[in-house]
Amino acid sequence: MSRPDLLDPNVFASTYTGGFRYPYVRGRALGGTTAINALVQMWGHRDDWNSWSATHGLTGWNWRSVSAEIERLGLPSHVPVASEIGPVTSAVLAAARELGASECRHQAETLDGAGAVALSLVGGRRADAFGLFVTPRVLEDSGRMIVHAGAAVAEIVIEADRATGVVVGADAFTVDGVVLAAGTVWSPILLRRSGISRAGIGRNLKDHPAISLWLGLRDGFAFTASNLEVAGLVVASSTDDADINLLPVDPNQLVVAVTKVSSVGHVTEVDGTAEVVLGTLETHDDATRMLAALRLAADVCASREFTNVVETVSIDAKGTPLSTLLAHDDETIISYVRRLPGAYSHAVGTCRMGLDSDAEAVVDATGAVFGVDGLWVADASVFPDIPRAATQVPVMAVAGRIAHGIAERLR
Ligand SMILES: Cc1cc2nc3c(=O)[nH]c(=O)nc-3n(C[C@H](O)[C@H](O)[C@H](O)COP(=O)(O)OP(=O)(O)OC[C@H]3O[C@@H](n4cnc5c(N)ncnc54)[C@H](O)[C@@H]3O)c2cc1C
Repeated sequence: MSRPDLLDPNVFASTYTGGFRYPYVRGRALGGTTAINALVQMWGHRDDWNSWSATHGLTGWNWRSVSAEIERLGLPSHVPVASEIGPVTSAVLAAARELGASECRHQAETLDGAGAVALSLVGGRRADAFGLFVTPRVLEDSGRMIVHAGAAVAEIVIEADRATGVVVGADAFTVDGVVLAAGTVWSPILLRRSGISRAGIGRNLKDHPAISLWLGLRDGFAFTASNLEVAGLVVASSTDDADINLLPVDPNQLVVAVTKVSSVGHVTEVDGTAEVVLGTLETHDDATRMLAALRLAADVCASREFTNVVETVSIDAKGTPLSTLLAHDDETIISYVRRLPGAYSHAVGTCRMGLDSDAEAVVDATGAVFGVDGLWVADASVFPDIPRAATQVPVMAVAGRIAHGIAERLR
């Protein structure tokens, strides 16, 4: 899935403060993390988008406006056909249907069910954000847009509460405005480095907690190079709609994830390194959902369709069976999962959007940073809550709406 040369070596995570520290995958490339991600396209649950206005007071942000933006983006997508889907993915989907899951493509306002996922592919090649949105404009606007690949912004220059420049290495560039899109990990760090002190910066981080199950395939079955990296997904409900995902990934793993999350974490900078604390499964709701997700995975793994293809299902590379973990009491299971390095890598929320009266909010409904003129944030960090979905399409939609707002203002 990931090319090591495109990964950011300066980002680490632990699931709780003082917990095991491990590299937290982020793309460092043109196109950001879309240059290395698993390509899955989901739009997010209708209720998640409606909560932006209903719960967070963000006028204009709801399922209607965001889905219209996604339609407008016209993203290319490829829905794998049966012959492209590998035996493990097919077995997971068939097993879920055997257990009563409906057929679902996961690109609609409601998501529960099992089915092939749409992938960001054009002609079999990755369609990343740079190729989709920047390259065409570079070609059209030749001479007006300059891309400095490989240049890391050290800080934004703020003078008299206005963004007037960016510092890159030894150079300082004077600018009329700054749209920050460094992602959930680095955008808050850059705001802090630039002297902005809004309380919520770096806080309210949410990611989808996840655990990978290791699959021992029967003789004659394998993920093969011709299978798409990720082709099928099971979305199910425990205490809420669409709050569980089962996602088969190469090599031989089944990711079990919780997608409706109330635990929060944070990110800080220590000597140039980003340190993420995820806060994994800290709330009772999240723990309950993870237990339900693991039990659903066990049911899928015990089904006839699945056992025809997969011989063993383990919780670690040593081969400890999933059933051994599930034989323990709930508290032991959750404390085991919390100690593992695991998340779906969909972090959001560290510069969250909200009303000025909300001390935790960092940007307003247009993406503008409170208290600083000419500075916007347009990436996953502005999400006031995590959607029950993979995040790349939601991020593109949010960034698209923020970009329109800025363009309107400048007109
Ligand atoms: C392993 C993995 C798999 C994933 N799979 C999927 C999937 O299948 N489907 C899906 O929908 N989502 C997936 N995601 C999540 C999705 O890719 C992200 O939510 C999305 O890319 C976030 O977009 P962003 O613009 O907020 O940040 P990013 O995409 O992370 O982009 C931030 C960019 O800013 C750059 N940057 C940071 N600091 C600086 C600086 N100081 N100066 C200059 N540039 C800087 C970074 O290098 C990066 O290029 C996955 C994520 C990971 C990690």
